[in-house]
Order: sequence, then structure tokens, then C-alpha cells
Amino acid sequence: MPARPAYRNPQAVLQQVFGYEQFRGEQAAVIEAVTQGHSALVIMPTGGGKSLCYQVPALLLPGVTVVVSPLIALMQDQVSALRANGVSAACLNSSLSREEQQDIEQAVMQGDIDLLYCAPERLLQERTLNLLQSAKPALFAIDEAHCVSQWGHDFRPEYRDLARLTELFPSVPRLALTATADEPTREEICERLGLGDSPRFIGGFDRPNLRYRIAEKRSGREQILRFIREGHEGQAGIVYCLSRQGVDTLAAWLNTQGVRALPYHAGLSADSRSFNQQRFLKEDGLVMVATVAFGMGIDKPDIRFVAHLDMPSSIEAYYQETGRAGRDGAPADTLMLYGLQDMVRRRQMLEGGDTPAERMMLERRKLDALLGLCEVTTCRRQTLLRYFGEEQSQPCGNCDTCLEPPKTFDATVAAQKALSAVYRTGQRFGVAHLIDVLRGDDNEKVRRFDHHALKTFGCGQEYNKTQWSGLFRQLVAMGLLEVDLSGYGGLRLGGDAKAVLTGQRSLQLREPSAGGRRSRGKASA
Ligand code: ADP
Ligand code: ZN
Repeated sequence: MPARPAYRNPQAVLQQVFGYEQFRGEQAAVIEAVTQGHSALVIMPTGGGKSLCYQVPALLLPGVTVVVSPLIALMQDQVSALRANGVSAACLNSSLSREEQQDIEQAVMQGDIDLLYCAPERLLQERTLNLLQSAKPALFAIDEAHCVSQWGHDFRPEYRDLARLTELFPSVPRLALTATADEPTREEICERLGLGDSPRFIGGFDRPNLRYRIAEKRSGREQILRFIREGHEGQAGIVYCLSRQGVDTLAAWLNTQGVRALPYHAGLSADSRSFNQQRFLKEDGLVMVATVAFGMGIDKPDIRFVAHLDMPSSIEAYYQETGRAGRDGAPADTLMLYGLQDMVRRRQMLEGGDTPAERMMLERRKLDALLGLCEVTTCRRQTLLRYFGEEQSQPCGNCDTCLEPPKTFDATVAAQKALSAVYRTGQRFGVAHLIDVLRGDDNEKVRRFDHHALKTFGCGQEYNKTQWSGLFRQLVAMGLLEVDLSGYGGLRLGGDAKAVLTGQRSLQLREPSAGGRRSRGKASA
């Protein structure tokens, strides 16, 4: 391979090699730090432009830049794209023949390769390490760096062993890149990859072309169908479901409704997964119905919508999953449905596993933050960005709460009724029964527990069942009620409930809608 031309500076590389005019966001600052020999942590959303942060230094620094990535298919795409731009890049992976591998190794030794991509397990093989010991790498770029985090949703054991790089190559800078933002994960990345107090670059989480909507789940699949039909007919989109079974059912049903949908989850064979994924990427206007197994590394710029039939696990997950829409910058739509059942299920999933206590606390906090986002009555985007440490001074004008500000009302009395129903029934019943008590429904279960004799029995007839469940959900989201998971999701008083019961604290809540068929159409989808 020919020796590469000598570039004067990052700007020259950007224009001459990649054909772009300007660096975006933090790119220039990251590149400067790295070319001066510093390690760094880069947190940028998906589509934010992380690749240039190491590709540009790779062309300025003497020696090979090693890019660690977990996804072989993605590496090959990047390598082809780089080669098309005249960059000398290669990928070491298991699909190479012995000769191909030797050619690449030789080219690395001769200093002819600027970017060498490989999976972590490959990098840590003695053979590759020996090669690099002699070839003297310029930089290690660790993509998807959150995979080192044992607490993260993408933990990969091979990533944990990357800690060895620090000992083996103490003087080679390491650039860790990820789109996952929460603080504990950041700390863990820095610790594992020996970043110490290297600079951190965090940037640009806003995705102004995405419209955020979060709505109460009622009829679930009909809401999804309406969302697709009203504005997204024939467009490519993703619908996330919590369970594999949920995926299969929804995908099949959408097809009966004339929406071309494909399923994707880890229970399908590798062949059908990759077949469906290829169709989704290549054909126009397909809807992928999927669990979270689908998405990482999917680079389809024209996904016009992402919907969640079930509540995601955290704000990060919500952000990442919705972030797959509109990567081309054109307007794209998101819709998340959620209900009290979702919260209970999520909590049960948390509590069900053998998760260590410390982690459970963290996961609960994350779930609570997500509930907060669901129930917020001010701008969703501001709330979302604040979670990632970004303040936006103005409401966005492109989320449901901005477009149709929710009506709030003084809910002190309603909350007192609900809380006292919980208290008087012994803090162990679920929402359905509590609503029966409030509405004075004299049924068998009520009789069995003598709840028709309570003072609260029938004191809440001003709201129907749907309205009460909306109110209960908000009380849970605010921490005034807690879901007990040892049994069947009974509710007990939490936090400030006493202050509300005794009238020391008043409450503003979203006006609960009465349910039934609504005529406002898309907006309330
Ligand atoms: P990430 O890895 O953060 O998800 P990429 O590095 O794949 O994002 O970049 C996303 C898209 O943005 C790519 O198509 C890339 O070519 C483009 N891009 C990145 N930086 C710039 C820039 N400075 N100017 C124009 N386009 C850019
Ligand atoms: Zn807004």
C-alpha cells in the first residue's frame, strides 16, 4: 500500500479525506486532546459523530490506531467506507484466511495501516499483542466502551479484560467512546480502562428533529396501529416490546391490519434474525417489531418512527432506542406507551433476579427517573436533557407536553381518598381492588374483607376506573405510594404520603382522562 500523504492538521484531514467542512460539537476538542497524547472519555449520542474522533487522529499520528469494537459487521462497513475514502484500514477477524491475516500483520509491521479494527477477544490474543508490541500503536480507540460496565445493559466479559491494555501499553493513549451517559457507567469505564482523570467530552444530546410523545397505555396495540396509520403509513419504523411473545403477537397482528411488520428477538434463529434485519435495512417501509435485542449498530438513516408498546427500562434505554429514528436529520416521531402494570412488571423483573442490593437501588432510581419523565407536566425534552446533565433554557415546542400542555388540577382531596383507601385496607391490596372500594363496588372480594364497611367505601364515585388508575399511577410515580413486590403488587404508603393525608401538603396532578374512544386523534394516540 502506498505511504499516506502527510496532512497538516485536523481540519485538512476533515476536508480532504472525509469531505466535510466543519467539525461538530466536541469533535475538534477531542481530536486536539488525543493528538497531544492524552487519553479521554467521549460521550456522544448515537449519530453524534464519534468515529471521526479517532479516525482523524489516526491519520495525523505516526503508527497504527487500533479500534476495538464488538460488532464485526459494523467494523467491516467502517473499513470499506474508509477505504473508499482512500484511507488504509483493515480489520482483523476470524473470517480471514491465514494468508489474508498474514498480509494484514505484515502491513501493520511496515507501518502501512492507519486504522486496524478488531474485536476485543482478538486484540487480547497473544499473537495480536505481540504484533502490536513491535508495531507500536499510536492510539487505542475503544468503541461502545460501556460494554466494560458490569452494570450496563450490554456487558461483555471480553471488554473487561481490556484493562490489560493499561499495563501492556502504558504510554499509548486510550480513547473510550460511548453513547451511554449515566454517571456510574462513566466511572466504571474510567476505572476499567485506566483513564484516571483524563478529560471527558460530553456533548450534544439534543435530537431536535425527534418528537417525543408519552401516553397512557389503554388498548396498547390499537394505539400503536393508530400511531402508524396516522402519519407513518408506508414508513420504516421500530416498535419495541418487552417480551418475545409480545413481539410475535404484535407483529402477526399488525400484518393482519395491513402493516408490513417483521419480528426480531433473541428467541428466533440466527438465520431468521439476520434475514429480517437485512429486509428491514434494504426494503422500504417495513416495521420491525422487536425486543431490545434489536438495534445496536443498526445504521438506517431513514427510520421515521420508534414506538414503545411497553415502558423501557430506563431513561438511557429510552433515549438510545428512540435515538434510532431520524438519524438523517429529517423529522421523526416517537411514542411510548406506559401503564401501572408496566411499572409493576419492571419492578418485579428487577426484584426477581439475584441482583446485588447496591445495583438494585441504582436500577430502582433509574426506573423512578423514567416514571418521572412519563408523568412530567412540563417539557419532556427539557426533562430528558436535564437527566443527561444538559440544561435547555426554553421548552422545546416539539414534544407532547409542549404541543398540548396537559391540564392539571388540585388533586389534594382525590389523593387523600386514594391514600386513605390504601391505608384502611391494610396496605396490601392492588389498584383494581382499591378502585372497587373507592367506587363502592360491592363485590365478593370487597365483602370477603369487609371493605364495604370502611369509611372510604364509595367515597370516590366522581371518577371512573380509568381516571382512578391514572391518579394511582401518578401517586406511584411521585413516590407517595410504593408497589410491594413480594406478593401481587399491593400498594403501601410511601414518602410524603402522611403529609398529604393530614393536609399539610397539597398536590397538583394531571387531570386524568376518562378513557373510552377519543376523538382528538393522533395527538392523544
Ligand atoms: P456515532 O458513531 O457517534 O454514532 P458516526 O461517527 O457514525 O456517529 O457519525 C454519524 C454520521 O454523522 C455519519 O454519517 C458521519 O459521516 C456524519 N458526521 C460526523 N461528523 C461530521 C461532521 N463534522 N460533518 C458532517 N458530517 C459528520
Ligand atoms: Zn417540549
